[in-house]
Amino acid sequence: MLTLTVLGCDGSHAGAGGAASGYLVRSWTTGTTVWLDAGPGTFANLQRFCDPGTLDAIVLSHEHTDHWSDLTGFVTAARWTLGWERDPVPVLAPPGIEARLGQDSEGILAWRAVGDGEGAEVGGVTLRFSRTDHGPVTLAVRLEGDGAALGYSADSGPRWSLRALGTGLDLALCEATYTKDHEGTGQHMSAREAGSTAREAGARRLVVTHRWPTIPAAAVRAEAAEAFGGPVAQAAVGRGYSL
Ligand SMILES: [Zn+2]
Repeated sequence: MLTLTVLGCDGSHAGAGGAASGYLVRSWTTGTTVWLDAGPGTFANLQRFCDPGTLDAIVLSHEHTDHWSDLTGFVTAARWTLGWERDPVPVLAPPGIEARLGQDSEGILAWRAVGDGEGAEVGGVTLRFSRTDHGPVTLAVRLEGDGAALGYSADSGPRWSLRALGTGLDLALCEATYTKDHEGTGQHMSAREAGSTAREAGARRLVVTHRWPTIPAAAVRAEAAEAFGGPVAQAAVGRGYSL
């Protein structure tokens, strides 16, 4: 069984008491744990669900800080709190984030640059990346393990499709930053666009995420469900999904 746990889901900045983008993906058959995006607030929440010293990999979608800045807390904890005596954790990310970290991560993180169309194996999970429609190089990712497939859009405008992550997605975790009234205001998808791309990709389930904190969750979910043609879940911290 593959599981997805939401560690943070606020779009572009954390709202009051919230956390920006971050997820935990686990293959229970093979005991593989992946921290997928590490936005502000997500390291605190990660520690509620797993021992950070047991991570098999960290995957970062792009260099906007709402997707990786909690790496700094992880490195500090590893250095001073966790009694770090293991191999460095592989960090799969587009180039550029390591230089922005501003912190010595030697012995704790093992950086590996990835790009559009590339793949990787992490324990029992296979990853495949696809560059999205977003400012800096941004990588959506398909994660497969335990006979299930999860597609994560990362951040993207509407000129990229979840279809780029292949067929047979059991769950699409797609950004829906705002409602259709805001389309064109950012390089992001509205809930309508998220529902539509998930339908085109033939995803079995849709979870929308990266909601701007001032946009009502109910409006985003309803709009996405109408476009998807089926039930849609709105990501919330602590929510989990089994694939
Ligand atoms: Zn973002």
